[in-house]
Amino acid sequence: MTRILDGKAIAAELRAEIAEKTAILKQTRGIQPGIALLLVGENPASQVYVRSKAKACEELGFYSETLHKPADTSEEDVLAQVRAWNTDPHIHGILVQLPLPKHIDEMRVLLAIAPSKDVDGFHPENVGRLVAGLPGFVSCTPAGIMEIIKRSNIEMRGKHAVVVGRSNIVGKPMANLLYQKNPHANAIVTICHTAAADLAYYTKQADVLIAAVGVPEVITGEQVKDGVVVIDVGINRIVDASAPKGTRLVGDVHYESVAAKASAITPVPGGVGPMTIAMLMSNTYQSAAGEVY
Ligand code: NDP
Repeated sequence: MTRILDGKAIAAELRAEIAEKTAILKQTRGIQPGIALLLVGENPASQVYVRSKAKACEELGFYSETLHKPADTSEEDVLAQVRAWNTDPHIHGILVQLPLPKHIDEMRVLLAIAPSKDVDGFHPENVGRLVAGLPGFVSCTPAGIMEIIKRSNIEMRGKHAVVVGRSNIVGKPMANLLYQKNPHANAIVTICHTAAADLAYYTKQADVLIAAVGVPEVITGEQVKDGVVVIDVGINRIVDASAPKGTRLVGDVHYESVAAKASAITPVPGGVGPMTIAMLMSNTYQSAAGEVY
């Protein structure tokens, strides 16, 4: 029997815990976790993401402010806003929704965020802290995957984890989390990317496979071994005439054929996706409570 790793349920559990801790933080120390959200331009997907983050804040008892600036906002304006939030005592987490319009240098903006308020975990200081095994903010999607692994009691110690994808947001931090010497990690890690001439050579060796590729259903049942644990990070919308809206969401693994061989698998949707915002809330709570810096 394949176990379905229910990220939606785990995220709901985590959010309930954060809401409870937030109420205690307010009562005992008079601190309300606060997030500042910056959206530049009219990207529809970004607007949806920012709205769902603001909604999560409301549900958990956080303070949040959303600033929506026009697409022609200058880089200087964005930097000035970030710097203002850096010193605002009501704000514990700053989130600049990516992508930014092309005339704005994303890395300059990310570098301007105080590392102690970088709840997305994208600032090189937090990336460095992760690599060095120091406390810091970890990118929300890989942090959420570690939470799924931990709360589902998946043993990682000595297991061969194969991560497909090396983006700064998912693949690289994921690999770094998996080999850390702690009870929920301690895996042997391989990272794959487009230079792998024979991807299946690597994926077939995985005890735990993390797919963060961005290519719909690219990993099939023939490319994995029996009993593999599969974490599918991919969110891809594909055309499907039989679906009510004419499209549907699929992951980076071909669910039916891979699930047939897997001992456990995250579905898409309802697997990794819901964990990302839950971890953003968790990071912001920790920032407000002074648990990280
Ligand atoms: P990127 O496009 O930034 O990175 C994809 C990585 O996969 C790259 O490192 C690329 O290699 C590698 N890759 C692409 N094709 C192949 C291939 N055929 N064989 C081997 N490696 C390959 O994507 P992200 O990391 O940002 O996202 C990955 C997926 O996760 C996407 O579907 C995205 O939508 C989803 N996602 C989901 C989130 C969630 O909340 N659940 C959050 C973030 C992302 P190379 O470096 O050589 O180009």
